[in-house]
Order: sequence, then C-alpha cells, then structure tokens
Amino acid sequence: MQGLMQHGALTVDKFLDHAAAWHGAREVISRDAAGIVTRSNYGEIHTLAKRVSNGLARAGIRPGDRVATMGWNSARHLAVWYGATGMGAVLHTLNPRLFLEQIAYIANHAGDRILFADPACAELIGELLPQVPTIERVIFLCDAATLPRTDYAATAFDDWAAGEPAEYAWGGFDENTACGLCYTSGTTGNPKGVLYGHRSNYIHALMTLQADALALSGRDSVLMVVPMYHANAWGMVYSAPAVGAKLVLPGQKMDGESLVDLIEQEGITFSSAVPTIWQGVLQYLRESGRGLGALKRVVIGGSAVPEALVRTFRDDYGVDVIQGWGMTETSPLATISTPSAEVAALPADEQIQYAIKQGRLLAGLELKLTDDEGNRLPHDGRTPGRLKIKGPTIVSGYFGGDGGNVLDEEGFFDTGDVSTIDDKGYMQITDRAKDVVKSGGEWISSIEIENIATGHPAVALAAVIGVAHPKWDERPILLCQLKPGASACRDDLTSFLDGKIARWWMPDDVLFVPEIPLGATGKIDKKLIRQRMEGYKLPFEVTR
Ligand code: ADP
Repeated sequence: MQGLMQHGALTVDKFLDHAAAWHGAREVISRDAAGIVTRSNYGEIHTLAKRVSNGLARAGIRPGDRVATMGWNSARHLAVWYGATGMGAVLHTLNPRLFLEQIAYIANHAGDRILFADPACAELIGELLPQVPTIERVIFLCDAATLPRTDYAATAFDDWAAGEPAEYAWGGFDENTACGLCYTSGTTGNPKGVLYGHRSNYIHALMTLQADALALSGRDSVLMVVPMYHANAWGMVYSAPAVGAKLVLPGQKMDGESLVDLIEQEGITFSSAVPTIWQGVLQYLRESGRGLGALKRVVIGGSAVPEALVRTFRDDYGVDVIQGWGMTETSPLATISTPSAEVAALPADEQIQYAIKQGRLLAGLELKLTDDEGNRLPHDGRTPGRLKIKGPTIVSGYFGGDGGNVLDEEGFFDTGDVSTIDDKGYMQITDRAKDVVKSGGEWISSIEIENIATGHPAVALAAVIGVAHPKWDERPILLCQLKPGASACRDDLTSFLDGKIARWWMPDDVLFVPEIPLGATGKIDKKLIRQRMEGYKLPFEVTR
C-alpha cells in the first residue's frame, strides 16, 4: 500500500527558494582577495541565481551539461551554484590549488562547457584553455572594473548576468538528476569524479543539520572557510540557506589574521575548516593576543584533529570542537564526534578522548569494519579493519564508470580508511589504507603518533611515514615542522612519545624539516613526503 502524502521532489534549488522566501533579508557576506567586503542577502542571491540560469540557457547549456567553477567562496560563486543546479545542469567545482595537468585532466574528463572563475585564476586558465577544448567560454566572477586582462576572450560576471531576466522556473526534473561533480584528489591513479544527485545532496543537508551533527540554526552566523570545491563545503552550501543562517564567505585569504578579522567583525558563531587552517588561526591568536569573539562551535574534518587543538579551543577560547569524518564519496559528512548521553556524563577530560575520535554514524547510513577478505570485525575499540559504508548519500560508482564496480556484495563502499569502532559506537580512523605502516605484520597508526607529536609545544605539524626495513618490512619515521622560533631535538620528541604509544610504535628516526608539504585541500601530502624521502636510510635497526 502506498502512503497518501504528496510527492515533493527533493531538489536542492528548494533550499535557496526557501531562504529567499523566509529569510530573504538574512545576510550573505563576501570578502574578495583585495579585502573588500560586499554585503548581500539570500533574496538578492536568489535573484542573481535566476539570472545565471537564464544566461546559461541562452549560452546553450542544457540539463546534464557540466558548468565548471574555479574559485574560492564568494556570493557570486554561490549564485552560479544555484543557477546551474536549479536548471538541471551539473555544477563541477574545480580546485584551483591542483596542478595544471590535474585540472586539465579533470576538466576534459568532465567535459566542462563553461568556466566561471575567480580573477586570481586568470593566468592558470590561460595555460589551461589550450588543453581543454570543451570549454567554450570563460566568465570571471567579478565586475567590469576588476576583469583581468587576458589574451583569451573572457567576460565579467556582473555584465554577463545583468541583462538576464530575474525569473526562471527551477526544478521540475526527477530528484535523482545529477547536480554536482567533484573529483577526488586521486592519491592513487587519476582523479575520479563523484557525481552527486539532487536527492543525495538534499538528504545530506538534512542529515547534517540535526542537533547532534552541525546543529546550524537561523541564529548562527557561519564563516564557511572550507572551500566550496571541497565536497560542497561539507554540505554547507545547502544547509546554511536551508536554515537561514547568516553566511560569511572569506574568499582566498584564509590566514589566521584574515579569518580572525571576519570572526570578530561579523559576529561569527560557527565555522568550518580543516585542522591546518585552525592551527594557523591559533598560532596567530597566540602571537596577537586577540580572541575569537562570539565563536561557539567549529566543525573540523578532512584529517584527524589533534587533542591539543581541541583543548586549546575549549580551555583558552571556550569554543567546542565538533570533529566530522567523511570523504568526497560520502557527500561528505558521515560520522560526527558530538558526545552521546554516556560520554556527556564523563568528566571533561575523559570526554576529550571521544572528541578526538571521528565519531558516531549519522542516521540513514550503515557502517561496517571488515578484514581484507570481507569478514566483519568486532566493535571493540581495538581491532582495526577496513571501513565500509552504505546509504543514500554514498557514491555508487564514479563518473564515466572509472574504477568499475566500487561496491561489495552487500552494497557497501570501501572508504580506503582503516579504523576501529568502540563499544560506545565511536569510530576512530587509524590510517588511510595506503598510509598504514606495516611493521612485523602488524599495523602502526601514523595518525595516532602524529596527533600526539603535535601536542609537543615546539611542534607545528607532524607526519609519520613508513620506511622499508629488512626485518620488519616497514618502520615509522617522524617528520616535524617546528613552530617559528621553537627548537627541539630527536630525544625531546622520543621522550615526549614515550609512554603514550606502544614501545614498538616508537619512530626509528625523527627528522626536522622546514616545511611539511600540504596538498590541495590543506592535508598533509604524504605522497610528496614519500617521494622526497626516497633513498632515505634508517639510522639503525631496532628490535621489538
Ligand atoms: P582527498 O583527501 O582524497 O581529496 P577527501 O577530501 O574526500 O579526499 O578526503 C577523505 C579522506 O580524508 C578520508 O577518507 C579520510 O582518510 C580523511 N579524513 C576525513 N576526515 C577525517 C577526520 N576527521 N579524521 C581523520 N581523517 C579524516
């Protein structure tokens, strides 16, 4: 028997329709690379997005065509987002921090037809265009006065959109229609495209809004630091308008001072970014003696959150850290580390041990741990296994069929992460499968050692990689980037780790490097570290 409720297609354009109708005056604020702050609101963005749909239709864009953006978080970027998805086109976010060859590969693979880009990307696009013949047109997200001079044809967004009608009928298509395309960084092989559907993004936004997840409300003032090209800014492109939260878009400048300025000036209560960005913010706060104004909660994900970061936010600034885990393939948020009733009843210090785990599963998803043969493993908090996930916000295959079938016989997607799940349901990533250090047949968690090492007062960033060893297959070594002006030696770090990790996990060497390389989404780039460390020899053999 069928239910007798109305069928409303779950299409993402409805989030901005709702924001415009019910929170139309709520502000959307953008800061550009020159530091100029522009104030707009959901009503105006909605009108602008409708103009974009008309402009795209006039340019011959049809439902299913790929419309690319290459830019930081801005109001114009948001208008293009809704303008393209609302008319049934696929919004493809390109990450401007990738190498030219990667961007060219991705744009060709996607078959992008129109490119909306930040003016700062003008030079890169000049090199890109000859390699991507599918791109017919470049529109810079700026006004005529700031249109970059280029030797290729380009238009200023404001001029392009200005003459277009402000009415366009969005939606009207099946809710499973594709709306977004985002490529994973492809740490193994070529980047692969994750093709989001309206329904999957809609459901993801609702899932993340719940009180035990991001708990965004119309009263929040949200600083969306995580870039829109990083898995839909963790869904906040949808969830913030859905609740009518004030939205602050910081553009390209994401250094500590620039972010703290916005946090103070705009009364920010909630923000989102990867750990390395927050480390920059905390470093700046220490140097400047400034505070975090009205900020109450930060969601941090993308890589593991060190304990020291949670403590500093909580103890020095009264800010709660919510750790989220997920990946492009999972829309991205899937687990969240907010306290369960049982954990909330623990003393504050013990609660932190759960805050640094990746957390509990959001409703609507299924999670399992397996060994390499696919047998389920216990949730005892000790046994690491391959983490697999299933649900309506999880990828079922990559764009263009790349990678073939990615689901197991029960329909679960293998995340490539290795983790444990404890008896309270908290999942903890111990490594990405390809970063695991395998020593004497057992796994050493590089993430755990890194987290502890980052707690040393002199250490800014820490990375552990495995190095070939004749007896143990691999042994871990620790690379540290020290804080400006700080000093430490090998023994300082090994004594600091002593007693906090199993003896046989102790890194065989500690190296101090001027800079730990970060990848295009602000994560430690272990692939590059491994390349740089090629030919490195361990100083001596250790016994276990
Ligand atoms: P990529 O880094 O491959 O471009 P994603 O942004 O999709 O792509 O990254 C997903 C990966 O990031 C996860 O598989 C996991 O390894 C890591 N990750 C995400 N959140 C966390 C977290 N809170 N703690 C540890 N690792 C995380």
